Amino acid sequence: MNTFNKLWGVVTPQEAMDKINEQKSVLNGKTPENLEEQAISLVGTDIYEKLVKGYTEKQWGRKATELPAFIIRRLPVRLTYDNNYFNDNFQGIPVGGYTQIVEKMLDHENITVETGVDFFDKKDEYMNDYDKVLFTGMIDQFFNYELGELEYRSLRFETEVLDEDNHQGNAVVNYTDAKTPYTRIIEHKHFEFGKGEEGKTVITREYPADWKRGDEPYYPVNNDKNNTLYEQYKELAAKKARNVIFGGRLGQYRYYNMDQVIAAALEAVNEEFEG
Ligand SMILES: Cc1cc2nc3c(=O)[nH]c(=O)nc-3n(C[C@H](O)[C@H](O)[C@H](O)COP(=O)(O)OP(=O)(O)OC[C@H]3O[C@@H](n4cnc5c(N)ncnc54)[C@H](O)[C@@H]3O)c2cc1C
Repeated sequence: MNTFNKLWGVVTPQEAMDKINEQKSVLNGKTPENLEEQAISLVGTDIYEKLVKGYTEKQWGRKATELPAFIIRRLPVRLTYDNNYFNDNFQGIPVGGYTQIVEKMLDHENITVETGVDFFDKKDEYMNDYDKVLFTGMIDQFFNYELGELEYRSLRFETEVLDEDNHQGNAVVNYTDAKTPYTRIIEHKHFEFGKGEEGKTVITREYPADWKRGDEPYYPVNNDKNNTLYEQYKELAAKKARNVIFGGRLGQYRYYNMDQVIAAALEAVNEEFEG
């Protein structure tokens, strides 16, 4: 509602809904054939222009009219003055961040941790020496791309230390316009209240980037073509790599948020132990 109020001066949810409905009508009930039409059919033209168009075109490196409609099946519209992005009852990140939680979980005499090792440099050794392997890398790379390559989107991060206390007043600010080349700025000190050096702050700008082999893969591109190929890799895994659990966003080729990936991990554990 804060957004709608700033955009149109409306005050009540009904006024906001009326405005959206009025703007949606430009499509005359046409079935959306691309992302632009899909977004307009969900939230009208103003929100589309201000929040969806530039951001989506930056993220995907393609015009919204050339992107398929299915990318945004729905756009959650909440008619409340609560600015939280999600509706969940509990929202936050662990005190001290995720790294320390994982470090504590791995701090056990039976667990050996090796970092800085590419799985593929030791694949044969791991596959021979262990009954079970949990692999969280790219499933297509695991099979040496034998069925073809899955597509990913990548990111470039640009980090800067600024001589100011508080740059943006929030951990994340998104830039939804087409002109700004980055999609958002992260100001790290806001993830933990009251932490960080006075008079200094660290910010990171995120630039969307195409992905090619050798780059860090951040996001799977879940279109029909890639999903079909992933299913074929999954079948291959069931035949040729029965002792491997493929986990996480790269192993399961799916976009996950943290809560979703943790849920998926717990599910994988249950399947493993309960069959
Ligand atoms: C820029 C960005 C912002 C995000 N923001 C949020 C957010 O605000 N909220 C939220 O809930 N979620 C967010 N996410 C999503 C969240 O980060 C993921 O859901 C989560 O990290 C996925 O966990 P994972 O274990 O599947 O994969 P990862 O965390 O990527 O772990 C996979 C691990 O496997 C390792 N690996 C891969 N290949 C190899 C190899 N060949 N050899 C050795 N190691 C290998 C990688 O190094 C990595 O450590 C964000 C993601 C990105 C990219």
